[in-house]
Amino acid sequence: MLGLMQDRPLALPHVFHRAEQYFGHKRLITATATGETTTTLAEWAVRVRRLATVLDTLGVSADGRVGTFCWNTARHLELYVAAPCTGRVLHTLNIRLFPEQLVYIAGHAEDEVVFVDRSLIPLLEPLADKLATVRHYIVIDDGADVPIPEGWLDYEELLAAADPFDGTFVIEDENTAAAMCYTSGTTGNPKGVVYSHRSTVLHSLISLVADGAALSERDVVLPVVPMFHANAWGLPYGCLLAGTDIVFPGPNMTPQGIVGLLERHRVTVTGGVPTIWMGMLPLLREHDLSALRVVLCGGSAVPRSLSEAYREAIGIPMLHAWGMTETSPIATMSTPRSHHDALTEDERADIRARQGQAVPLVDIRLVDPDSGETQPWDDVATGEIQAAGPWIAKEYYRGEGGGAQFTEDGWLRTGDVGTGDRYGFVRLVDRTKDLIKSGGEWIGSVELENEIMAHPKVAEAAVIAIPSEKWVERPLACVVVKPGETVTGEEIIEFLTPRVAKWWLPDAVEFIDEVPKTSVGKFSKKTLREKFGGYQVAGPTSHEPA
Ligand code: AMP
Repeated sequence: MLGLMQDRPLALPHVFHRAEQYFGHKRLITATATGETTTTLAEWAVRVRRLATVLDTLGVSADGRVGTFCWNTARHLELYVAAPCTGRVLHTLNIRLFPEQLVYIAGHAEDEVVFVDRSLIPLLEPLADKLATVRHYIVIDDGADVPIPEGWLDYEELLAAADPFDGTFVIEDENTAAAMCYTSGTTGNPKGVVYSHRSTVLHSLISLVADGAALSERDVVLPVVPMFHANAWGLPYGCLLAGTDIVFPGPNMTPQGIVGLLERHRVTVTGGVPTIWMGMLPLLREHDLSALRVVLCGGSAVPRSLSEAYREAIGIPMLHAWGMTETSPIATMSTPRSHHDALTEDERADIRARQGQAVPLVDIRLVDPDSGETQPWDDVATGEIQAAGPWIAKEYYRGEGGGAQFTEDGWLRTGDVGTGDRYGFVRLVDRTKDLIKSGGEWIGSVELENEIMAHPKVAEAAVIAIPSEKWVERPLACVVVKPGETVTGEEIIEFLTPRVAKWWLPDAVEFIDEVPKTSVGKFSKKTLREKFGGYQVAGPTSHEPA
């Protein structure tokens, strides 16, 4: 027997029409090089309707890819909605990628048009003659004093000349592609992840659940996470569904710029990678951030010490989330639950440092990479984290990667290794390819990094494997010391000794000026491995693996 409920598509037009109808009075604020601009959602909605017509006028095909090369701005949000609501596919290009990668990605996705912020023209223009599929470049003037190449079109002129689409947007098949993002891909070519309307709508709801960011109409949200990084973790669509005010940081992504916006607009919810919050740490006490209630953090492990430093300075720890481009990206979140109430604050900090429990509708399992056995949730056994759910990728665009990252029974192999307690609170130990195999035993580099970063004089630490004749691999700690502090390698080892197994202690500590980062702000261990590839440890290691 079938259910007798309406079979209405889960699609982004609902998100747009809901925002337009109910939240026209809400504000969109964008920081630009020449000051802040404020529009209402009602004004924004008219612009979305004009943009829908512009896409037709430009001749973008019915499911054409609409590239964006933009900062986080209210105008970028226009594209976020107009492209998918007219059946096109939004393709957010990562402005920090290397030129060759951008050329590859835009060509692979067959972008037909690219909308570019004026300040970013110098990054895009040199590639233009290599982007064979792109027929039009449309410049969004963000006030930057940069010449506009001949033949490139002006966004405002096109909008002004267009009649607003005056009907209701309709997407009949909820499985229609809405947006695509390429994985940051540390090896091989980046692979395209294609989000559907259905996956995007369902995932957006996660930012509204109470054990997550719990977005409500009362919130003022500042997404620091770039809109080219996995759809800014679903925040933009979540904000439209909930009817929040949104503050966009534009090109000024400095800690000073962000903290000023948080204070001035009494932002309640923000989200970004640990690096940005680390940079803001010294500024916290100089600003009134009393309106903040959620600092969403993920993309890399959130150091316990960072989260605690926020709790001490502004009264709220970080809301730790884990996921990847392939998981839309939110898959787990770590808010302490009722069974954690009896714990001490210190113990709760340990819970918050975990990646957390799978969010509703996502299934997670831990699988031993050697035996293929599913591991128990006993907080001891580790395994590769595999994920399944309505917003988890089932394959890459054009079948790239040949399915190696998907299991026969349809789960995504995330390449992350972790353990989890009986409540499913995951603790991520490492990436499979970053694990250090010493004397046949795994050492989790992420865990080790977290312990090193707990040292009061350490700003950042990354741990990589170095070759060892005796143990095959051993850990090398690359440490960045806080400004004005000094610390020795011996002090680091002494600090770690009571905290980790003896055989986990790094064989050497190297001091570096900063940990190299990828285009989305994660530690680039590949760069560190290249740098320290031939590292020789002076003398035999004294740390016997178990
Ligand atoms: P990306 O697809 O570029 O967002 O990268 C996804 C990868 O980032 C994941 O597979 C993890 O290795 C890492 N990652 C994301 N969130 C976290 C987190 N909270 N803790 C540790 N690693 C994370």
